[in-house]
Amino acid sequence: MGHQGDDCYRLAKWLARDISPPRSQPPEVQPRRVPRFGVQPSARPLVTDIQPARGTHDLIGEDQRRHHHVVETARHVSGCYGFEEWITPIFEDTRVFSRTLGETSDVVTKEMYTFEDRGGDSITLRPEATAGVCRALVTNGLTQSLPRKVFCSGPMFRYERPQKGRYRQFHQIDIELIGPSEPLADAEVIACGWNILKALGVHADTVLELNTLGDQDSRAAYREALVEYFTAHKGGLSPDSLVRLERNPMRILDSKEEQDRKIVAGAPTIQPHLTEAAAAFYTKVQEYLTRFGVPFRENPRIVRGLDYYSHTAFEFVTSKLGSQGTVMAGGRYDGLVAEMGGPATPAVGLAAGVERLAMLLDAAPLAPAPVAVVPIGDEAEAAAIGILQSLRAAGIRAEMSYRGNLRRRMERANKIEARAAVILGPDDLMQGVAQVKDLKTGAQEAVAIPDIAAYLT
Ligand code: ATP
Ligand code: MG
Repeated sequence: MGHQGDDCYRLAKWLARDISPPRSQPPEVQPRRVPRFGVQPSARPLVTDIQPARGTHDLIGEDQRRHHHVVETARHVSGCYGFEEWITPIFEDTRVFSRTLGETSDVVTKEMYTFEDRGGDSITLRPEATAGVCRALVTNGLTQSLPRKVFCSGPMFRYERPQKGRYRQFHQIDIELIGPSEPLADAEVIACGWNILKALGVHADTVLELNTLGDQDSRAAYREALVEYFTAHKGGLSPDSLVRLERNPMRILDSKEEQDRKIVAGAPTIQPHLTEAAAAFYTKVQEYLTRFGVPFRENPRIVRGLDYYSHTAFEFVTSKLGSQGTVMAGGRYDGLVAEMGGPATPAVGLAAGVERLAMLLDAAPLAPAPVAVVPIGDEAEAAAIGILQSLRAAGIRAEMSYRGNLRRRMERANKIEARAAVILGPDDLMQGVAQVKDLKTGAQEAVAIPDIAAYLT
């Protein structure tokens, strides 16, 4: 491989944090070659230094299969719980996020991809799915037809420092249950998440950590306790957290700064400040989780990174991904739909990072092995196209090389790990048959051309 290939490899490895960064000088300009098929090179220099944008990655081969398996499994499992898929835009009016995720949240202050489009509108690439789903609920006039159970998946964008399990374009699966205010709904969403992890086979190393953020009155009382505590420790807080202390002290609990973490460790928890109603709600959620058979561990430190949560907050954390161990997280967000301009509407949901789940999979299921169609000579090729079509119409993955003699074509069949070869020579053609060879056992049989698809099904 040339030095370009090396650089791509180093960049990919570096993003995965295995080795030192790729060399920073631009690669040498490659000598220009006249491309095949007689196209003359243009006067512009060839672009030789394009790299994937930092924090993005391509999904190819095994990576794509893992990704696909995670999303398909989540789609299927959530479908069994009655969630229906919505597809909302990847970009939204900036206010959809800036108003609702919390002015002091990390996502809004540091991570959003926001730009002015050609019409002068402020646009943001979605950093998460929930706000867009609530916007869609309101703007499609669906706030009166509740409950709604929504499944979404797709790319999200956050300007973060890339590292293993943390990217700038990443993907989430997302489920939202909008309408019910009952704790049964919280438990059902969590149970659905747990069953997605189970269906993926990654639940064994994953723990559900559960907390409550109480209702408004609980949080007002808790806020006072936090202000008192953090004011007493003001000298040790990071500059960001000093701002949070003024504007939203609960946010400090979610700070990732080392100096804040130490102070946060001794901060009061919300539990003594819960109103009777909020405490009863939390107890009910736990009872229902037990009923659904979902194991959990209480963790009073869980606050979640966005502002819109109330009552239930939870994270599924794996021991296998280091500090990127949260694979799925969510909670109740009763205020969000109203902030989006709709009527007061309770809701609960969760989101999971597809990349992190994909990393935890043992392996992705392989696509079924194909059948190779192998014509010998031009006349046979014409008939082979008919066979290819009949196999594909029968749902069988079938491939034919674009050129080559019998040996080359059989080599190719082995390379694509075909399970069988349908070999069609001039004699076979005269008799209206093809030789169907099982490439595992080597057994070969003449089969009438119209019967081949059925024979291989
Ligand atoms: P973290 O604490 O890891 O930054 P978060 O609280 O910002 O996570 P959420 O907003 O709750 O994450 O998003 C839900 C899930 O999406 C996370 O648990 C994680 O699996 C995934 N996720 C979040 N940010 C990224 C990212 N930059 N790259 C890859 N996955 C991510
Ligand atoms: Mg984050």
